[in-house]
Amino acid sequence: MDLNDLYRDVIVDHNRSPRNFRQIEPPRREADGFNPLCGDKLHVYLRISDDRIEDAAFEGSGCAISVASASMMTEFLKGKTEAEALDLFERMHELLTGEEADLDELASLGKLAALSGVRQYPTRVKCASLCWHTMKSALASGDAVSTE
Ligand code: ZN
Repeated sequence: MDLNDLYRDVIVDHNRSPRNFRQIEPPRREADGFNPLCGDKLHVYLRISDDRIEDAAFEGSGCAISVASASMMTEFLKGKTEAEALDLFERMHELLTGEEADLDELASLGKLAALSGVRQYPTRVKCASLCWHTMKSALASGDAVSTE
């Protein structure tokens, strides 16, 4: 089995049984993400306590790449500080759009490295990065209090 097969298996698995596919009750931070190129729609929820992401979850529908990326992201975010989450956003951005994959960087990202395969398919990069952009705006949203 080569690395690409392994990556494909990780994405298939997370798409078939997405982790943390649910809501988080308030107080929470949240944001909507939409990728019109593919039709992916995600809603990301975060619960933050003492500057640490206690819980991360998402809902929505989209292609296998967008769902698998969101599923892996929620697993990876738990226990991270807000600063670490933003740092991870930058690293994923680099992984998905950068010129060359750095092998040490790939290893440190664990399963998230499976998404590095999309760099060969520019239209798929938006699918893989959608949840990360949504997570970033959820972080910036503050502890939203709905007035509706
Ligand atoms: Zn997509």
